[in-house]
Amino acid sequence: MSVIDIDQIRRCVRCGACRAVCPSFEVLGWETFNTRGRMILIGKILDEVDGSWALDSLGTCTTCALCSQMCPAGVTPSKVVEDARRILASRKITGSWQIELRDRISSTGNSLGETGRRHNWLSMLGADASPAVKADQVYFAGCMASYRYPETAARTFGILRRFGVSILPSERCCGSPLLRTGLDASGCMEENLRQMNEMDVDVVITGCAGCYTTLKNDYGLKVMSVAEFLASRVSELEIGPMDFTVTYHDPCHLGRVNGIFDQPRRVIREICDLEEMRRSRELARCCGGGGGVRAGYRKVSLEIARRRLADAPPEAKYIVTACPMCVRNLNEAGGHGRVIDLVDLVAMACRR
Ligand code: SF4
Ligand code: SF4
Repeated sequence: MSVIDIDQIRRCVRCGACRAVCPSFEVLGWETFNTRGRMILIGKILDEVDGSWALDSLGTCTTCALCSQMCPAGVTPSKVVEDARRILASRKITGSWQIELRDRISSTGNSLGETGRRHNWLSMLGADASPAVKADQVYFAGCMASYRYPETAARTFGILRRFGVSILPSERCCGSPLLRTGLDASGCMEENLRQMNEMDVDVVITGCAGCYTTLKNDYGLKVMSVAEFLASRVSELEIGPMDFTVTYHDPCHLGRVNGIFDQPRRVIREICDLEEMRRSRELARCCGGGGGVRAGYRKVSLEIARRRLADAPPEAKYIVTACPMCVRNLNEAGGHGRVIDLVDLVAMACRR
């Protein structure tokens, strides 16, 4: 039985409103690499036993959901693409990068294939750094922050632990890269859930947009983004004003998909001036890193990021965002350190 909602395919009237905004189409230019083309291909996949010819078309979708935002017929193509990837994977039609990703996660517990301890960043907080003590709120750092931005993870937990937040004893990848690319993430999910249940966790706090949407919408947990947490405690952060202007890049899976737009802006405005990007909030362009595109189609991913960087106002000293994947992809595409996490901005402004 198909896992795709056929009604979604039937409702598509081929108007092309989604095509006009699709970031992978902007870069690749072929009809099969835009949302409308993908919807047509997905309809054909359902009638066939193969579908390998659709692998790159589906694989280059960042799941940014701009198409879902624009569709006048109420179709959510980003979700349909994910479901179609699941169908291909069930037929054993996958890219070699998907197999490598799955193997990395199953052998190391993280999407980057790192073998060091995930919580090594705790050592940056000094000898009194809290281990995983029982608490009803835990910080879930995610793979990218743990291994590529340990300072940001440490800064985040340095703030959160003042408010009684703990960590899991042995956090694993949340499974987002597997789920978004159509693969099975039950191993990761069961292990994280087991630890959360043992600790009797009520709320999970994360600074990664991919982890946020996965923990909330795939695990079904109560989740708070670090941006929301900071906004709710901004008067207690002891931050002072700084004399420069920044802009804010909305991560797709935090902003458009889950509606977190105001909270990071509230925190930024407590610190400095905010000038919006050329496209922001619901219409923000994607950084190009999500949906497995960075893992499987690096050139496409970085070209999407270059286009996003061009939306930044020149007077902005920093492009602040709230997801380590966005920080990574935008900096690699030419940001050269100008792209920083919201927590890093807060740390600059901290008077403690
Ligand atoms: S905007 Fe909606 S109806 Fe129009 S082509 Fe795209 S998916 Fe189909
Ligand atoms: S989710 Fe984004 S990349 Fe994927 S088809 Fe829609 S607009 Fe294009």
